[in-house]
Amino acid sequence: MTTTASPRRGLLIILSSPSGAGKSTLARRLMEWDPTLSFSVSATTRTARPGEVDGDHYHFISEAEFKQLVAESGMLEHAHVFGNFYGSPLKPVKEAIEAGRDVLFDIDWQGAQQIRNSDLGKHTLSVFILPPSIEELKRRLVSRGQDTEDTISKRMQKSWDEISHWDGYDYVLVNDDIDATEEQLKTIVSAERMRRAQQPGLQSHVRGLHLEFEEGSK
Ligand code: ADP
Ligand code: 5GP
Repeated sequence: MTTTASPRRGLLIILSSPSGAGKSTLARRLMEWDPTLSFSVSATTRTARPGEVDGDHYHFISEAEFKQLVAESGMLEHAHVFGNFYGSPLKPVKEAIEAGRDVLFDIDWQGAQQIRNSDLGKHTLSVFILPPSIEELKRRLVSRGQDTEDTISKRMQKSWDEISHWDGYDYVLVNDDIDATEEQLKTIVSAERMRRAQQPGLQSHVRGLHLEFEEGSK
């Protein structure tokens, strides 16, 4: 008897961290490692930074459009962060998951908590990225060169709020060396894909094994 690969259910992979700890860099590297991963492009009411492309990094929408989407239950989760609204549109996530594709989220702790408590909670893998030190976190925010001094100061003030939710996550990585953290993340994703709940075809495979077993023992 030949065995066939069991169809896999898509995993919701959530990356959170205080701003500047490295989650966008890690998300980008994960997408390069596995181009079948689908990135959840969030909707936000904040203005685009230089170099950010609408529909690619974010869907930049108005507050009225955002509220409309929420009212229509079009968001899997949403939150107010740094004075702006952010949310994950539900439709593309459902489509990807149903097609067996994993979806990657770069969202804050509030969004992670909402997804964990949703119907999709048991198909969720959440990873929190910690910086090696607060000093290094600030250095990275400054070196990224994307924000004004005022925004950096606001992000630094909010960083403890984000870090304080570290213990609600499945995995926590200290992003000291970026290559080492990338490897750890890939190992986690590879293992989590094998979770029983992610392999709906296992039941029929085991039924087949059982039949074969019974036949053999006659
Ligand atoms: P986040 O998405 O969490 O806000 P980024 O991925 O944008 O953070 O990283 C912030 C800055 O720090 C970027 O310039 C990035 O290249 C850099 N960076 C990320 N990880 C590391 C690391 N392990 N060591 C040194 N610099 C890093
Ligand atoms: P930034 O403005 O730097 O792109 O993002 C600010 C914060 O908002 C980051 O912590 C990021 O993870 C979070 N964020 C981005 N998109 C979403 C989203 O769709 N939902 C939630 N809850 N947080 C988000």
